[in-house]
Amino acid sequence: MSLFPTYNRFPLTIVSGSGTTVTDDEGKDYLDFVSGIAVCNLGHRPPEVQRAIQQQLDQVWHVSNLYQIPLQEKAADKLTEGNNLDHVFFCNSGAEANEAAIKLARKHTGKEKIITFKQSFHGRTFATMSATGQEKIQQGFGTLLPTFEYLPYNDVDAVKQIEDDEVAAIMVEVIQGEGGVVPGTAAFLQAIQEKCRNIGALLIIDEVQTGIGRTGARFAYEHHQLDPDIVTSAKGLGSGFPVGAMLGKADHKEAFSAGSHGTTFGGNPLASAAVNATLETIFSTEFLEDVQQKGERLQGKLREELGDLNVVKEIRGQGLMVGIELDVEAIQIIHTLREKGLLAVLAGPKVVRLLPPLNVSEEEISEAVKILAAVLQEQDQMQNA
Ligand SMILES: *Cc1c(COP(=O)(O)O)cnc(C)c1O
Repeated sequence: MSLFPTYNRFPLTIVSGSGTTVTDDEGKDYLDFVSGIAVCNLGHRPPEVQRAIQQQLDQVWHVSNLYQIPLQEKAADKLTEGNNLDHVFFCNSGAEANEAAIKLARKHTGKEKIITFKQSFHGRTFATMSATGQEKIQQGFGTLLPTFEYLPYNDVDAVKQIEDDEVAAIMVEVIQGEGGVVPGTAAFLQAIQEKCRNIGALLIIDEVQTGIGRTGARFAYEHHQLDPDIVTSAKGLGSGFPVGAMLGKADHKEAFSAGSHGTTFGGNPLASAAVNATLETIFSTEFLEDVQQKGERLQGKLREELGDLNVVKEIRGQGLMVGIELDVEAIQIIHTLREKGLLAVLAGPKVVRLLPPLNVSEEEISEAVKILAAVLQEQDQMQNA
């Protein structure tokens, strides 16, 4: 096998997908409640995105950012409509979006320190790995960027104690995704915003996982009426076409002037076609309200069916980003769920994370909960025996 073993891969080969269903190489179907980790937010091969990409395939695939790309401008307009953000830089991944945010914040403020939070996840490049508050991700790579400081998540007092010593930005996830599906409290998020205003630091919100409708809003910060200076996006942005974006305010324009930052692929015509078609569907009030309702139904059913089990410690999340914290290692449960036809993903060692497509049906939600209930009831009985 000539791949670097950077992933412990499950023994599953998906050969086709449609909506919430994927099929393996032996013809077995699965309900996909992973969505490529919050990427396929419209399910697999959504027709409207497929059409847009196919149309673009017949015109032009790639042109350099040295030329005009009207579809990229259109996508930027969509991302900055109805919020306080003005400009977009397109790139190819979440890490690159955060990398751009870190560079922009440092250049715009002329300051260097960036405060992030323990158990956060911001990416795997040197700057974003340094921003990530998890030692296991940083181990073995030598000296990190020295200007990051990590505070405990949801600790309002720790935020209040931040001093104005050269802080360029505070960077935070509204719900920690990889860190265990941990929602930030309103008080915590407000305290961060207030601190940023008081010390002239930028508020960077990492919406790479929570954005693009996942929590029932365009971006999760909208649930808390926050006013971020910079927002980063990727995962769900292109429905599976690799693309990322950093959104910022008009007064940051100077710092990202011609020649200051760039990318070969970012926002090319194919990517931009995927983004426009994705946002066309997801950034509508009815669609987002529907996500909220489905999220409530999913969490309600989970509480009803699993709430009383000893093995289940907590069910949490927002919209269709849900974590079930267990009092045992969750990996074996993930394996058993897969054998029973449901794909779910870990978020830390003890949390089963559910990220179904945002257009998942009621029946698919019921079916998934049924499988979860059966597997976790069995686990409960085994532990009690
Ligand atoms: C996945 C993720 C990233 C990294 O995105 P990549 O596209 O893998 O580089 C950054 N931040 C958050 C919150 C994420 O969930």
